[in-house]
Amino acid sequence: MGLIRLLVYLFIGYFLWQFVKNYLRKQELQQKRQSERSQPGPTPVVKCEQCQLHLPQSEAIASGSHWFCSNEHRSLWLKTRR
Ligand SMILES: [Zn+2]
Repeated sequence: MGLIRLLVYLFIGYFLWQFVKNYLRKQELQQKRQSERSQPGPTPVVKCEQCQLHLPQSEAIASGSHWFCSNEHRSLWLKTRR
């Protein structure tokens, strides 16, 4: 029954390895998130096509390659464009 015992050990070893890998990856992700929080990079600023207002991309509304400060300006701009 030596072969089966070997297989069981391999199985356990494999699971342990996966567990360690997952654990390390989680820690890496957490560290990345924490460093991103403490050191916020420059957020890209975009311009509203309707009112030319500059605002951070995370708050802007995208329409293709164009950006808008609000949904109203997006629909307004799309209307005037036609
Ligand atoms: Zn606008």
